[in-house]
Amino acid sequence: MVINFAAGPAKLPEEVLKEAQANLINCNGTGISVMEMSHRSANYAAIHEKALNDLRELLNIPSNYKILFMQGGGTGQFAAVCYNLMGRTNVADYVVTGSWSAKAAKEAEQYGKVNLVVPKVKKYTTVPTQDTWKLDPNASYVYYCDNETVDGVEFDFVPVLTNDVPIVCDMSSNFLSRPVDVTKFGVIFAGAQKNIGPAGVTVVIIREDLIGHHMKGTPSILHFEKMAKSDSLLNTPPTFCIYMMGLVFKWIERNGGVSGMAKMAAVKSKIIYDVIEHSNGFYSCPVEKRVRSRMNVPFRIGGAEGVGVLEKEFLSQAERQGMIQLKGHRSVGGIRASLYNAITVAEAEQLSDVMTDFYLSNKNTN
Ligand code: PMP
Repeated sequence: MVINFAAGPAKLPEEVLKEAQANLINCNGTGISVMEMSHRSANYAAIHEKALNDLRELLNIPSNYKILFMQGGGTGQFAAVCYNLMGRTNVADYVVTGSWSAKAAKEAEQYGKVNLVVPKVKKYTTVPTQDTWKLDPNASYVYYCDNETVDGVEFDFVPVLTNDVPIVCDMSSNFLSRPVDVTKFGVIFAGAQKNIGPAGVTVVIIREDLIGHHMKGTPSILHFEKMAKSDSLLNTPPTFCIYMMGLVFKWIERNGGVSGMAKMAAVKSKIIYDVIEHSNGFYSCPVEKRVRSRMNVPFRIGGAEGVGVLEKEFLSQAERQGMIQLKGHRSVGGIRASLYNAITVAEAEQLSDVMTDFYLSNKNTN
């Protein structure tokens, strides 16, 4: 038995994988795999449309928002957002609360002026409350990352702006893990490979009036207007990824929708944070409690900086019990347990058992 705690590409629901397997060489009775279908065929169109409609329903996306299926991952969107929106005033606000929003801000510097809304820090452990933010009233948009996958920092609020500057949000690693009021956002984007499917497709949800403000020279592949006009069929879309994502959408529907996912996420993350909290500092999570991620739980063993040998031993002990991909991101070290939608409560409990056992047998050695 293997339990995959990877940060992404990450675990997919077994039910979805089995359904894909059963349909692999004869998709929906066509006699061919979805990978072998023309993206202009009626059979593929039905898959594409269904995925779009199911997502609209799951997140309650209003009709004045377009849903795009794009390529280039979250990183592609770091640039796409600038190409399509930054030219309005040539300045944008970036709320940097972790490694991914930092990367997005760095990318944006190539296209215009980046206003850093919160002070630069060496270690990301919190989301400064909005009353401390230094927003530029002239910004084309305010950008933030809802869940920082590397650092384990997750917003516990949606910013409220008193002007009509649109909010752009990277939800790559907590997409469809809780209800979201889409009307509060100008753009939401998410790479699929954590909560909703395989790597290769990126969902973009954009308010219609924000389409059409692209810079001169915007590449067609990153062009929101061209993508919207062609129903994301400007070129060959990642058909298999979209098919898989559609199966995941139906699985979420069957499992209580996004509020069902949110309930599960609260339970699973509490199980792991409780072990950390009750370990007398043996395990430590640097993130301020208020904004601890429900999706990615980073922790150290043996104090705030971690004790290398203990962390190594923990990882091999967990691996011997089938729990894999628990190593922290290479930039921060330590351990990281990712608890995306497909991880079950029982699997989180198994990890907490391993953590408790490891604590009891090693608490006196550090
Ligand atoms: N944003 C977040 C929050 C991420 O976690 C990642 C990838 N882990 C990215 C953006 C970049 O995505 P990609 O690798 O698909 O470009």
